[in-house]
Amino acid sequence: MKESPKDQENSAPVIRIEKARKHYGGTSTGVEALAGVDLDIPRGQFAAIMGPSGCGKSSLLHALGGLDKLTSGEVWLDDQPVHELDDVALTQLRRQQIGFVFQFFNLLPTLTVAENVQLPALLSGLDDAEAVERSTKLLDEVALSHRLTHQLHQLSGGEMQRAALARALIMNPPVLLADEPTGNLDSHTSEKVVELFRQLGREHNTTIVMVTHSREVAGAAERLIEMRDGQVVGDGPAR
Ligand code: ADP
Ligand code: MG
Repeated sequence: MKESPKDQENSAPVIRIEKARKHYGGTSTGVEALAGVDLDIPRGQFAAIMGPSGCGKSSLLHALGGLDKLTSGEVWLDDQPVHELDDVALTQLRRQQIGFVFQFFNLLPTLTVAENVQLPALLSGLDDAEAVERSTKLLDEVALSHRLTHQLHQLSGGEMQRAALARALIMNPPVLLADEPTGNLDSHTSEKVVELFRQLGREHNTTIVMVTHSREVAGAAERLIEMRDGQVVGDGPAR
């Protein structure tokens, strides 16, 4: 069967990481956080990363998202060499092409729920009306329509992470990176939050890379990448 352009577009890896090394500290004394990682992540895939504390999961995610530089190796986001971008280009990349969700939400306590979600859109230069329209739609998708003008302290952990997810998606980024997004949630809430990641990832054709400590959470993904000592030691279907 002939591939349509859409299929071809979908089969090209959106993220490619090659011979990634990350060394912290001095040459003889330091830590090898990433010791040669090669990975391809296809567009629209939901991949989970698991592994013991200190094995390099966050280092990998930070390199993928342009939050930190590799010591050596390459990171490609579509046709963009992330490892070669300067700080200005990296800031642009993080604002517009990558959504981040962290364990401790990283929402701003002085802003309302809707304002938190709108902030990245305003920083990227969208006008107020567009930011409001997008945040209203996304907060509806994460079932927080009744919380738009609430302050953060009025929200549960699950609600905060749903707001953080809406914020991460406001620029409709091709890639969503999440570092233990359910690490601060009980197991029932975790399940619901991860299901929302999966559902929104599908609807927005977002590629998701999620670090997690939980086998159950990882089971919501399509692919499970296992790391140890800075290397990938397992890679296969999550279920
Ligand atoms: P994980 O997310 O799997 O727990 P990390 O990527 O955070 O692992 O860390 C991998 C290794 O690199 C660990 O040994 C950690 O102590 C070390 N490391 C991480 N960040 C730094 C840093 N900024 N400076 C020095 N060492 C670091
Ligand atoms: Mg970590």
